[in-house]
Amino acid sequence: DLNNRILEVKNLNFSYGPIKALNNLSFHVNKGEIVALLGANGAGKTTLLKTISGLQNAQSGTIYYKGEDITKLPAEQIVKRQLIHVPEHRQIFSTLSVIDNLHLGAYHHYSKTKRKNVVKEIEQLFEIFPILKERQNQLAGTLSGGQQQMLAIARAIMAKPDLLLLDEPSLGLAPIIVKEVLDLVKRLRDHYQTTVLLIEQNVFASLKISDRAYVMQHGTIINEGYAQDILRDENIKEAFLGHA
Ligand code: ATP
Repeated sequence: DLNNRILEVKNLNFSYGPIKALNNLSFHVNKGEIVALLGANGAGKTTLLKTISGLQNAQSGTIYYKGEDITKLPAEQIVKRQLIHVPEHRQIFSTLSVIDNLHLGAYHHYSKTKRKNVVKEIEQLFEIFPILKERQNQLAGTLSGGQQQMLAIARAIMAKPDLLLLDEPSLGLAPIIVKEVLDLVKRLRDHYQTTVLLIEQNVFASLKISDRAYVMQHGTIINEGYAQDILRDENIKEAFLGHA
């Protein structure tokens, strides 16, 4: 169903000088889905997210978001359309408190949303992130790695994303915390109906919370499927993932 597509990428090409990082790449994300983007180091996953969120411009190809061609829009115009990117190295303001970081997450719609409403939204968010409530006055830079990642995601939620791009939210985290962060992503989707496109090295853990997955290799999609199908069958899993 084409009306259900929040994101449609067609024949996208991006090169860093002589290095072709995206090679005629096409894929899509449906409204409300969690889609995992898998693939070995250097496959082009980070490049794809940066190109979608406008941090860099594709040399050719098209990116449709909610039916609009956003390929050539600058990043700040894309953010305004509620397409929010949480980059690989969690960008929180480490010298500000947790609560101030959350307020800043709402900055681009602060004029539309009264401060009172933002406070209410933070209270709601605290129900999903009790640890952030507990640490609301702590400086963000003194949180643990897992807590910082949760804050980075919570801050992105304050921007009311319709599509959330998450680049390796579990990078550098202990396995038990990885599960916690990924479970949280699923709870956020279930609660806010946020569509999520997720890069994850933890293939198994990410498939467990995802609806569908794509496998990238050499800048293009080499496989796609429903997460449940891939998880159900070891042979499929192996064939599907290759050396991802
Ligand atoms: P990883 O899982 O290791 O983060 P990735 O799938 O996200 O990998 P990208 O970071 O998108 O892959 O990199 C894709 C290719 O582009 C790699 O060959 C990489 O070396 C190259 N590349 C990425 N950024 C740059 C850059 N700024 N300048 C030159 N080459 C780059």
